[in-house]
Amino acid sequence: MVGETQEGHNCCVTGSDHQDVGERSHGDHSGHEGHDHSHHDPAMFKKQVLRATALTIPTVYFSHTVQMLLGYQALSFPLSSYIPAVLGIVMFFTSGRIFLTTGWQEITARKPGMMALIAMALVVAFGYSFALTVAEIIGSPIGHMDFWWELATLITIMLVGHWIEMSAVLQASNALGELQNLLPDTAEVLSGKNYVTMPVIRIRAGDKVVVRPGSVIAIDGIVLSGSAKVNESMLTGEAALVDKSKGSSVFAGTVNSLDSDLKAGSLVIEATATGANTAFSQIVKMVDEAQKSKSKTQRLADKAAGWLFYVAIASAGLTLGYWLANGTQDVNFVLERVVTVLVIACPHALGLAIPLVTAITTAKAATSGLLIRNRQMFEQAAKIHFVLFDKTGTLTKGSRGVAAIEPATFSKIKDVDRLLALAASVEFGSEHSIAKAIVSEAQTRKLKIAKAKNFESLAGRGVKAQVGKAQVIVGSPALLLENNVRMEVAEVLWASEAASNGYTVICIVVDGILEGILKIGDSIRESSAEAVYQLQVERIRVGMLTGDSQGVAETISKELKITEIFAEALPWHKAEIVKSLQADKAVIGFVGDGINDAPALAQADVSFAVGAGTNVAIESAGIVLISDDPTAVVRAVKLSKKVRRKSMQNLWWAAGYNILAIPLAAGVFMPLGLVLTPALGAVLMSLSTLIVALNAQTLRK
Ligand code: ADP
Ligand code: MG
Repeated sequence: MVGETQEGHNCCVTGSDHQDVGERSHGDHSGHEGHDHSHHDPAMFKKQVLRATALTIPTVYFSHTVQMLLGYQALSFPLSSYIPAVLGIVMFFTSGRIFLTTGWQEITARKPGMMALIAMALVVAFGYSFALTVAEIIGSPIGHMDFWWELATLITIMLVGHWIEMSAVLQASNALGELQNLLPDTAEVLSGKNYVTMPVIRIRAGDKVVVRPGSVIAIDGIVLSGSAKVNESMLTGEAALVDKSKGSSVFAGTVNSLDSDLKAGSLVIEATATGANTAFSQIVKMVDEAQKSKSKTQRLADKAAGWLFYVAIASAGLTLGYWLANGTQDVNFVLERVVTVLVIACPHALGLAIPLVTAITTAKAATSGLLIRNRQMFEQAAKIHFVLFDKTGTLTKGSRGVAAIEPATFSKIKDVDRLLALAASVEFGSEHSIAKAIVSEAQTRKLKIAKAKNFESLAGRGVKAQVGKAQVIVGSPALLLENNVRMEVAEVLWASEAASNGYTVICIVVDGILEGILKIGDSIRESSAEAVYQLQVERIRVGMLTGDSQGVAETISKELKITEIFAEALPWHKAEIVKSLQADKAVIGFVGDGINDAPALAQADVSFAVGAGTNVAIESAGIVLISDDPTAVVRAVKLSKKVRRKSMQNLWWAAGYNILAIPLAAGVFMPLGLVLTPALGAVLMSLSTLIVALNAQTLRK
């Protein structure tokens, strides 16, 4: 018995993702892990179905009952009337075995579920058929009634149902496998003066790899030479080709593509990450983890499956009691009703309803630029009332440059390069995009960047350090007030002029005196306005929440048609603002990119991090926008709504249909001439599984 279970087990566990889907497909009722029938692959079930069908046909054909019902005379030869009994017994112990063993495992694990119900139905049908046959052999007056054909068709249809289920689950989990299959197995690596083809697993960081036109990049790396257009859609969901040349980063899984003029180039790249360390593998891993986290609807489905077991037992008991007490029907009829109730109540489709939807959405989300890290948050996205965007790095690119340097009126340092060098020394220790802009400007001007001491980051305001003997502060105008530093009218005018043109103003303070002001340029992301508009179309309020000055915030928000702005917000203020907006049960979404956004991301009901942002932001967010594209927020909301609808529909098709089906199976509608045989009950049950599977598949579109 165990042999077959293991055969199936081994041949279908091809990837961990499949196993996950399979395991969860039965919620808490899967019995012992590893022996769950769901681990069997469709091919094995197909074989089982064919064998069972071959045995069922003669069982039905020679059945006394069927002959009587349909009014035909089967071929007759010695002992031919015992064919149904013999084949029925064989089927019970061969084709039916998988249901019996897994059902028994569920019962011993005290987690009775669908397999326990099927097993019980089979045992009842078998016991009754066996008793009838024995009665006939010893010449008891029951006559030519038999029940074996019911048992045989029941087993066959159950196997068909499982076959469908296996195929559906495998198909869904393949979506993840497909992602992984995108990576090539070999690459051309420079060895001496030649390029040799070697397996990707042997490539180490620092190796030089050539990527020819049309091929998939196998590793993460930096371009050393050559230029090409690369299709990064598998990572970002964006179809536009990206230009790559010396110094650009390239990622495993992306494709060196032909441009519209059918031109393409080769790239030589230096490997920075390989195998499991590539951005691509990290994404696949995160997707996998997200699939494992149980959603609320999944918990609901698990609970429903548990309840259904007891509802089924109670209904079966009631059915038996009622018809026996009623006394108008024979034992055959009564047992038929009991078996049908047990069969129809199998929470089969329920095991499939949510996992299928989950598997399809996570994979679909990943290919449309969204990485779901927290499923419950993703479910909440459908209910968002208000989305707050961080400005710098989120609505804007944050890749700034220093646009102007202005010495202050009473500055002692009139040399702008000297000012810049001082600022760069302090900013050297900061990860902020402003810091990077200042440092890189100093580097292009080939200025000497002195080492700073006692570096301190003033969250959401700036940085502070000691350069030589001087105490230097670099940061927002708000820092001037904080440190009692005077700003002259000329500077105030210069600064507000800059802010109204969308520049961020940064002050350089040396030993308590304002020495200079920097104008830092930034540009709005192309799709920001579209994202704001689309959210408003969805009747979602949109706001901007930034640490930058009121002036810049107003300029940018005017351009994006955002009416609600919160400026000069320090990191903890951001979280407080989110919290205050949550007060009247509003569901708040927050989109951010930096360390300074982490508190607000943690506070929001649904948090989105820009993929290119800091790791801290990504770790605090439930959903990552892989392509840094703000419109992905809208896609997340829409997908979440769709998934919600599908999940609810599936729960109804899987569990809700029992409200009608169980009474039907119990014989409540007999006065209307509606009675179900166990086999018809099994057809209905399988149909509900099929509907659930097909309904989930429509999400792919
Ligand atoms: P946003 O909330 O728009 O993403 P941040 O909170 O990252 O902006 O920054 C808010 C403001 O704090 C910036 O506009 C700048 O004035 C100041 N600031 C933050 N970090 C630095 C830094 N490293 N150097 C200079 N100024 C900084
Ligand atoms: Mg930011």
